[in-house]
Formats: sequence, structure tokens, C-alpha cells
Amino acid sequence: MGDASREIMRQARKQVPEWTTAQTNEALTRQRKEGQDEIVLVDVREKNEWDEGYIPGAIHVPKGYLELRIEEAVPDKSKPVVLYCAGGVRSMYAGLTLKQMGYENVISMAGGFGEWKNRGLPYVQPRTLNQAQLKRYSRHLLVPEVGEQGQLKLLDSSVLLVGAGGLGAPAALYLAAAGVGTIGIIDLDVVEESNLQRQVIHTTQRVGEYKAESARQAIEALNPDVKVVTYLDRLDETNVGRIIADYDVIIDGTDNFPTRYLLNDAALLANKPVIHGSVFRFEGQLTVFKPYEGPCYRCLYPEPPPPELAPNCAEAGVLGVLPGVIGLLQSVEALKLLLGIGEPLVGRMMTYDALAGEFSELSLYRDPNCPACGEHGHPEDLPIYADVCAMPAARIAAHA
Ligand SMILES: [Zn+2]
Repeated sequence: MGDASREIMRQARKQVPEWTTAQTNEALTRQRKEGQDEIVLVDVREKNEWDEGYIPGAIHVPKGYLELRIEEAVPDKSKPVVLYCAGGVRSMYAGLTLKQMGYENVISMAGGFGEWKNRGLPYVQPRTLNQAQLKRYSRHLLVPEVGEQGQLKLLDSSVLLVGAGGLGAPAALYLAAAGVGTIGIIDLDVVEESNLQRQVIHTTQRVGEYKAESARQAIEALNPDVKVVTYLDRLDETNVGRIIADYDVIIDGTDNFPTRYLLNDAALLANKPVIHGSVFRFEGQLTVFKPYEGPCYRCLYPEPPPPELAPNCAEAGVLGVLPGVIGLLQSVEALKLLLGIGEPLVGRMMTYDALAGEFSELSLYRDPNCPACGEHGHPEDLPIYADVCAMPAARIAAHA
């Protein structure tokens, strides 16, 4: 340090008081015990230094970005702010800057993180992305709402796709690309030629293979970070609880109401959010059923329609791109829930009319008398409905 720097430091110390590492530790420990968050601890080092370890509870605002980011990170300028760097010099300069910006109670930790570590005080080493992941997810890292910690959260999270069809196929591809670490796919169907008009995860070559296996191949080719779990099965009352238990979020890509009721009741019991979507011709809709925070499927439809109004089992027509739109909106909702950002579509039904080129929204409300999630609801005791379309005779009739 030159004479001029020494002089600046001497002046700075008059304005920015210092705490020793022991004093800082004591204040932070007391604050933690009392369950308060009065003191804000700010690490002003560079990212590579932070990655080597930081003091628990610290927020990271590198000195070079201090003026740009500190007001967002610490909006209340009357709060005590304790700054630290590696050795106690940069944090002192940072303290001067905060003083100029109007922060009233700024403290610099003498000795910095180096001394903190040498004294054996507690620190955490953050998990970080590897070099390949830094490249792959760079466009996520540039978004403050995601960032490296958000990406790590996605890699740690899991989504179950019920069905690898029109809605599940696009959702699976984008969730895999986004780096959702575990994707479960339950589907017993095989790929048919008529699926390829919209189920973009499958290929002409894989016609005749199980959809779940075909989807696995596509996902593994796209992103080796993703673990794919396949269930060559249909959801029923014997397996639904066990299967959904392993997932953070469920995307409902089914096209039959018995599965929707089954999934709804099991998801309420397991407290798992279900992202519901459906399509017909040029119209699609989606909403998020978040247990006990918004309505559930039975709040909207307490019982299935009578048989005479139930859809016949023949496949309904749909514009090929439409399930792509809705499936992708479902995956957007999944990412929002996993990251804990934005306003999920809870209690809101979004509808899309492709011909009109219009999105609209409907408010949905919880029914206090809902047989599943209402005050006296019992999701475990509700009837299981048979899928008439899954019965061999009905299938044959429908395809005849
Ligand atoms: Zn309900």
C-alpha cells in the first residue's frame, strides 16, 4: 500500500468504524439466536473468492457492482451494514461508498474473511456449476431471478410428467433443456404415426416404441444433466401416492377425467402442485392447482360428467401446434414454482383461442364445501372413477 492509500485508509477509518471478526461473529450469533435480521452482512469480494467460501447469512455484492446493486439488496439505509472482503481494505473503501450513498450505519470487518477463516469461525462453501454447466446455462445465469443459485435449484428439482403426449412432449423437452435435474414420465402408450403431428419429442424412427422410452432418448440426447425416470404404467390408486411422492411439481398432460380426479386427490394428500392443461381443436387452457392455496380440480368439477355427456373415446382433433403452446406454458409455470418466482396461475385459468389469437383469464375460487380440499373434505375417501376409454372393448369400438 502506497502513502496515498494509507492516508485514504486513515481518513476512511474516521468515517467507517471497524469490528473485529470476533465482534462480528458475536453480533451475528446473537442476532441468529434472537431470530432477527437487523444486521446485514455484505461480502464485497469477487465471485471466485465467494465461491471458495463465505460467512453464513452474507449476501454477495462484489465491490465493482456496489453502487449499482446495493440499494436493491439493502433498501433500508438505516440498517447496520457490516461489510467484509478478504483482508479488510476493500470493505473499508466500500464502506466509504455506502456512506456517500446515505447508509447511516456502516461497519467494516477488520481482517476480512482471511482472518475469519484462520480463527476457525464458521463458513459455508457454496455449490457451483461446473465449466460445462456455466456454458450450457449461461442465458439463465444472466437473468437475476435465476442466476447460478437458481440453476442449482433447478438441477436439484424434479418434475413428473403424467403423459408423454401432446402436452408432455414439449414440456419435457424444454424442462430438460432448462436443466430440471429429474424428469419422471409415466405413460404406457407406444408412439403412433398419428402422434407425430404434435408430440415433438418422438420421431418417425421410434414409432412402435414406448412413449416414455422414446422421450427418455430425446431428453438424454439433449441434456446429459437430466436424470430421466420412466414408469411404463398408468396412474391408478395403487401407485399414484408412491410415484408422486418423489416429485416437486406435477404436470398433468392426461386427456381423461378419471386420472385427473385421481391425481387431484393424491396431490392434495401429498401437498404437491399440479399444473393442469387441456386442448381441443384451436383452444387450450391451463391453471395451477396448488393444494389449499387455490382451488383444486374438484372445486371446479365436484364430479365427473354423466356417461351420456362424457366424451366418446375417439381421439379429439387438435391443431398440431396448440398442445405445444399449452405444454410450454405449463413448463413455464413449473419453472416459476421450482424457482419460487413470479405469480403462478393459482386460482386463475388462462385460456388461449388460437383462431382469434387471444389469451384471456378467468378467476377461479376455492369451494369451501369441496369434497376434496374443503373444510370437511376428505381427499382419501373420494371415489375412484373408471376410465371407460382404457377398457379394451371401448378402445376397439372407438377405433373401429
Ligand atoms: Zn377443492
